[in-house]
Amino acid sequence: MLYCPRQCALIHNERQWAENAFTAEGRVLHERVDAGGRERRLGVTTGRSVPLRSDRLGLTGIADAVELRDDGRPYPVEYKRGSPKAHRADEVQLCAQGMCLEEMLDTVVPEGALYYGRTRRRQVVLFGSELRGLTEQVAERAHALFQSGRTPAPILEARKCAACSLRELCQPEIGDGSRHVERWVLAAIDA
Ligand code: SF4
Repeated sequence: MLYCPRQCALIHNERQWAENAFTAEGRVLHERVDAGGRERRLGVTTGRSVPLRSDRLGLTGIADAVELRDDGRPYPVEYKRGSPKAHRADEVQLCAQGMCLEEMLDTVVPEGALYYGRTRRRQVVLFGSELRGLTEQVAERAHALFQSGRTPAPILEARKCAACSLRELCQPEIGDGSRHVERWVLAAIDA
């Protein structure tokens, strides 16, 4: 949703999907992570493919991994292909997982981590008030989008659209319909 509302609507409202090199790489990474089950290593118990839910946010999902440490607090870890990105979609997804765990387990989850396949490093994400507020806003906007059943017009952003697996379906160069018609009429008049 935060990455691109149109992409979110194409996937969830229109049930469209396409794979590209980036999604394939992510799928392979998750196939390794999504084996499920639980393991204990170095004093940390890790549950994999953990179902999550928040009635307050109206969200359900699956966390790649939730660690339980000595302080008894759950610690969500989300695996991502690539490296840290300029947009905040990964942070919001992780924070939503933390907020789900808080509601489900009646506890406090102050932070989690994003693991990036390309850098092979974890990035700690603190669930501060600003990120929590952004996560609530994104959840509200997503619900409004799903209820509307509408698919927003594309907004072409070269880097973002180049990485998007739905680019062929989306046709972002066309822009919104009205501007496309306007361009076509002007071209026809000039001809
Ligand atoms: S191609 Fe660009 S505008 Fe279209 S869905 Fe993907 S990111 Fe969004």
